Amino acid sequence: MAKWQTAIIEKIWLLGAILIDVIDKILDQTAWGITYFGVKFLRYLHNVRMTYLEYKRPILHGALYFIITGVMAIFLFAHAIDYSYSYNGRLLGTVKEQGTVLEILDLVSEELTQEYGLPIAIDAESDITFKPVLSFGKELDSPDAVLKKFTYMGDIQTKGYAINVDGTVIGTVESESVGQDVLHSVIDKYLTKKEEAYEYVGINEKVEIQEVDTALSKVTNKNSLLKVIDAGTEKEFSYTAEEGDKVKDVAEELGVSTKTLRDQNPQIGNEKTLKEGDVITVLKNVPVLSVKTVGVETFAEVIEYETEVIKSDEYYEDEEFVRQYGSNGKQRVTARVTRLNGEVSEREDLETEVITQPVKKIVVKGTKKAPPRQGTGTFIRPVGGVVTGYFGWRWGRMHQGVDFGVSTGTPVHASDGGTVTVAGWYYAYGLAVVIDHGGGYTSLYGHNSSLLVHVGDRVYQGQIIARSGSTGRSTGPHVHFEIRKNGTAQNPLNYI
Ligand SMILES: [Zn+2]
Repeated sequence: MAKWQTAIIEKIWLLGAILIDVIDKILDQTAWGITYFGVKFLRYLHNVRMTYLEYKRPILHGALYFIITGVMAIFLFAHAIDYSYSYNGRLLGTVKEQGTVLEILDLVSEELTQEYGLPIAIDAESDITFKPVLSFGKELDSPDAVLKKFTYMGDIQTKGYAINVDGTVIGTVESESVGQDVLHSVIDKYLTKKEEAYEYVGINEKVEIQEVDTALSKVTNKNSLLKVIDAGTEKEFSYTAEEGDKVKDVAEELGVSTKTLRDQNPQIGNEKTLKEGDVITVLKNVPVLSVKTVGVETFAEVIEYETEVIKSDEYYEDEEFVRQYGSNGKQRVTARVTRLNGEVSEREDLETEVITQPVKKIVVKGTKKAPPRQGTGTFIRPVGGVVTGYFGWRWGRMHQGVDFGVSTGTPVHASDGGTVTVAGWYYAYGLAVVIDHGGGYTSLYGHNSSLLVHVGDRVYQGQIIARSGSTGRSTGPHVHFEIRKNGTAQNPLNYI
């Protein structure tokens, strides 16, 4: 081994020896420290124990006394304290436990909701306040008493929102949004299409929703208020009569029935005409709110036909007949329509397209002076048409007159002037007319569909007395015509 190698090994050994020495010393010190503090701690514990043992009884008694006194104080204090409770500042009563009030709030809400028809929610934190009081057991409310106090407090003041229409409050609701909701519901009732489809939608009256202080019992809910609005309101209307005013016309002007006007104004009695200066007052139901809508509408509309009267001297002055029947036309109208509660109040036509033209009715009125209403001694044919049955024996029985075949509705003329002695249902003749012409002569017209004269009427020759038909014993539309002299049937064809 080289000399320098040996020197290094010696140094390493030396270093090792120094390290071992240091570690030994550290271990010695630690062991001593632990032992030292351990002994000190144990001695302290021993001292505490010795002191405790020495003063054991007094300490125990002191602690017990302290605890008992504390518990008793807390118990007595808790027992003596009551709580007054208030709803939104209004003192309602005193309870032993706050819980007595808090536990029935849901029930109270339910009862109030039923009582006032309002969704009343009582918020324990913001609406109810408790105050500790010493009542020494006097006048404490039972749960039943608390419930009663809450549910009978309809007169308590609360915030409401009054709906004011043209200066009159029609109702008070719990919030502005309920008020708006009511107004929208009223409007919705009169909208037949989406609100956006109108040029204008609104309420015609001046409506304001104002916050007011009110009694809880005065606050109504949405449905109750809608009912009030639906029912309308009574309003007084009066009118001062001018000379010659008729009761009927004034009633119409005021928009009530004649009976209503008479009932409400007994002073007019049974008079048909009012005296000048008479004051008529009527109570009339009018809507509380009028919903106004303006919108463009397209609708079909009837064009009513006109009636033209043509005067003609070809006919007698009491004769009148329809030459042409009228029929209504139809048009498509596009108009800007203003409605109040659904009723048209204004209309501006924008476009009109006729779909069918109306056809006018033409009436002919005779102007020729009627002949004297008496017999002339001559006879004329009552209708045109062909003879379908002759006078005389046929099929084994006597045919007392002559039949003229004409269609139903043909005018039947008096064969001669005279006085009507029969006008009505007459045996087998059906609807018939008999005229007495004087001088022993009578004529009969049978099987008519309608009669135009009455018994006792005086008629002239040629006057239309009936319309033909097939009533009575008849097999088809025709006029059965008889002429009798002193009651004996004659052959009419010998006279006309
Ligand atoms: Zn006949």
